[in-house]
Amino acid sequence: MQNYLTDDRAHLDRILETVLAEARNFLLGLDNRPVGTVVPSSLDLINIPMDGLGAGRALEIFKERYEPWLSGSAGPRYFGFVTGGVTPAALAGDWLTSLYDQNALGSTESIAPQIELDTIALLRQLFDLPDQFTGAFVTGATMSNFVGLALGRQWIGRQHGVDFAQIGLSHNAPVRIFSGTPHSSIYKAAAMLGIGREAVTNISCLPEREAVDMTALEAALQSQNGQPCIVVANAGTVNTVDFDDLQAIARLKSRYEFWLHIDAAFGGFAACSSKYRHWVQGLAMADSLTVDAHKWLNVPYDAAMQFTSHLQLQAEVFQNAAAYLGTEVSHSNFVNLTPENSRRLRALPAWFTLMAYGTHGYTEIVERNCDLAHWLGQKIGASKAFALLSPVRLNGVCFTLAMRGNSPTMNDIQRYLKLLRNSGRVFLTPTVFKGIPAMRVSVTNWRTTQADIEVAWVAIQQTAKRTHA
Ligand SMILES: *Cc1c(COP(=O)(O)O)cnc(C)c1O
Repeated sequence: MQNYLTDDRAHLDRILETVLAEARNFLLGLDNRPVGTVVPSSLDLINIPMDGLGAGRALEIFKERYEPWLSGSAGPRYFGFVTGGVTPAALAGDWLTSLYDQNALGSTESIAPQIELDTIALLRQLFDLPDQFTGAFVTGATMSNFVGLALGRQWIGRQHGVDFAQIGLSHNAPVRIFSGTPHSSIYKAAAMLGIGREAVTNISCLPEREAVDMTALEAALQSQNGQPCIVVANAGTVNTVDFDDLQAIARLKSRYEFWLHIDAAFGGFAACSSKYRHWVQGLAMADSLTVDAHKWLNVPYDAAMQFTSHLQLQAEVFQNAAAYLGTEVSHSNFVNLTPENSRRLRALPAWFTLMAYGTHGYTEIVERNCDLAHWLGQKIGASKAFALLSPVRLNGVCFTLAMRGNSPTMNDIQRYLKLLRNSGRVFLTPTVFKGIPAMRVSVTNWRTTQADIEVAWVAIQQTAKRTHA
């Protein structure tokens, strides 16, 4: 064994203690860490050390070369994208995932696949989904949408008597996708699946809304003349956190042939609160359903769930035909159900956080985050410096700069957001809503408190003064 391997193996305690000290420092400083850093534009070339350096020295170099430029995105005032943090229990689960290094592909030598099944069961209860939904962990909502659309594609083939997974896409059976305000990852998934981005047709939305206009959706379905298609319903859009009328869409299934995929990447968590549950009535009517974990569940990145009530179709698409892997279709034979073959025990952080904080823990996080978004929305709405572009429905605030009657340009927004980020206190991301350059706040982190939102509001106002000056 190489010297450093021997040495590190003998002194594993020391390495773990160094990492623990680093973890302590990082977590203690997280609330005050700058939300975004200005990363050096070019790092000098790095060379692989011939004889290695050992884990201790590698850690030192890491700390010098990269650590100061890590963002506080896991902290309480990072409101960009839809970014959650990591609960203490989720962190424990994530560390243990690496420690145990189990392959959760579904073979029988480890209980790992059962842990994943148990976690899916916990999540089914959290979101009040019926038992016929099976599920699996994938790396993010994009991959969950990918799986959902892959199932929709396979289902369309089946309506035409064609097994797409077996013979490839057939020209005679076009796959079309209708959606009001699909997330960009729907186009990406369509591209990866050979369905094509152009197969996604945007249906008009209600005035001033990102929720689909049911009359327009029905007209699109009618124009299919009985040809099966996919409808992507959106439960929580990233700009204004708007929701399609899921129940009304599901009711259309009695008259039109379509696969219903629901993208509830973060909006699905509305189910955790009796105040907001009405937004996701009908979630259980999905043929396939996306819910992210590294957003509102507050587990570390690479985790989302995909749910479906069509396990057999899933196995048709993702079957990994190899004698030594087996061909059994079961809920826990993940190698035959997901894009990956070998896969980490991605469910463990979710298992830990769900067991640690329970249903009410998530109700509290969701309601607190939403209260804070409403508080900020009210302040912004009442301020002359800003214009609120949409009512606050859940945990998002979409607004823009009020500029003497004119809309700001995207340059104005970018300049404002750069100044705001450089304040170190709050991070937002830009967007365009109904043609208006704008920005958005997403409150998704378990750490965020009233004190944080007040600090953010001060920074948001001060930055507006500086921009207008
Ligand atoms: C974030 C998000 C996605 C993509 O999720 P990733 O986890 O980044 O892959 C898809 N849909 C919606 C509605 C989202 O909010």
